[in-house]
Amino acid sequence: MYTMGSLLHSGSAEQKAEWLPKVASGELRLQAFGVSEPNSGTDTLSLETVAVKDGDEYVINGQKMWTSRAEYSDAMLLLARTDYPEPPREDARARAKALTLFIVDMRGKVNCGNGIEITPVQTMMNHSTTTIFFDNLRVPAANIIGGEGNGFKTVLGAMNAERVLIAAECIGDGRFFIDRATQYAKDRSVFGRPIGANQGIAFPIAEAYAEVEAAALMVNHAADLIDGGATAGEQANLAKYLAAEASVRLSCCDSYSLTSSLLISWSVAHCVSTLSLLQLATATQLWSCAVCFASGSGKQAMCACKPTADTGSRRNSTSNANGARPGSTVWPLSPLT
Ligand SMILES: Cc1cc2nc3c(=O)[nH]c(=O)nc-3n(C[C@H](O)[C@H](O)[C@H](O)COP(=O)(O)OP(=O)(O)OC[C@H]3O[C@@H](n4cnc5c(N)ncnc54)[C@H](O)[C@@H]3O)c2cc1C
Repeated sequence: MYTMGSLLHSGSAEQKAEWLPKVASGELRLQAFGVSEPNSGTDTLSLETVAVKDGDEYVINGQKMWTSRAEYSDAMLLLARTDYPEPPREDARARAKALTLFIVDMRGKVNCGNGIEITPVQTMMNHSTTTIFFDNLRVPAANIIGGEGNGFKTVLGAMNAERVLIAAECIGDGRFFIDRATQYAKDRSVFGRPIGANQGIAFPIAEAYAEVEAAALMVNHAADLIDGGATAGEQANLAKYLAAEASVRLSCCDSYSLTSSLLISWSVAHCVSTLSLLQLATATQLWSCAVCFASGSGKQAMCACKPTADTGSRRNSTSNANGARPGSTVWPLSPLT
């Protein structure tokens, strides 16, 4: 998505006409973005892959690291140095103007001695990431996107879309974890009742749910701005930060959740460290969230519910059914099963 964004916003009319219809039809897979290198991750301006002009072509040599989906791409965007040697560190403007973005047609060139060698890198997450060596790869000068020396600016613009994309992935992860945690809290019984009947399980799941849904609002806001043509750097960064934080709010709490990767609840340590006085002051609302979530009354209902009346009636009506002490906080059994 963010590779297409660079082409869409900074590509020439000819480049868009040549590449985008094929991408849209599925004929061509443009999914790889070669920016990071072994010696330059966050320090992009220090990258070492060099593109040397030779007639109406550039000859590219160097190595990229963490290039995701390269094995499943027909074309990639590649950031390379066209001004060398590297300008001094204190001259930020010259350094930024030293990089150029190319669109590289990889078809017929991978792992066959034609300039591109791809090796998969095993990671704990499924990004199909790779390392790529470029050995005298020839790319037409017509494949420069955004003009020579504008590569850094072009890539930075596309990264805001990437941030929103990753934030959206985090929201999906968070919702998945919460669904799994809720299901486990209903299914797993100890001392004769589901573990979800305990506040120590119910509250954190509700809290995680609230945080994921709040982050989702920022993600949608940033996506709307970018769809409307805005840069949205601040909103994209906020969305990614909030969504990433929210997506890892649930952690394992028992041995079964560990072995089956069910990712159930806060650890005790987390509860102790985060349950501040301020959070206790909002406990009624939190409890209400837990009840709404457990009762299946859903995401919208959670926001609309009236904490005091709702929680009170649910507590009274469900405590006996769950076998809990009168007045204690429980998850209603019937909607759970
Ligand atoms: C699964 C996966 C997929 C990826 N896919 C791609 C891809 O498709 N294309 C691509 O180009 N790259 C990709 N990357 C690379 C990713 O973008 C880089 O890992 C990232 O740019 C960070 O670089 P680095 O790991 O070399 O960290 P480094 O640059 O070595 O930084 C190390 C740490 O120092 C911190 N740090 C650095 N400078 C500062 C500073 N000034 N102030 C405070 N903290 C600082 C960083 O935040 C980081 O925590 C992928 C990475 C992963 C893990």
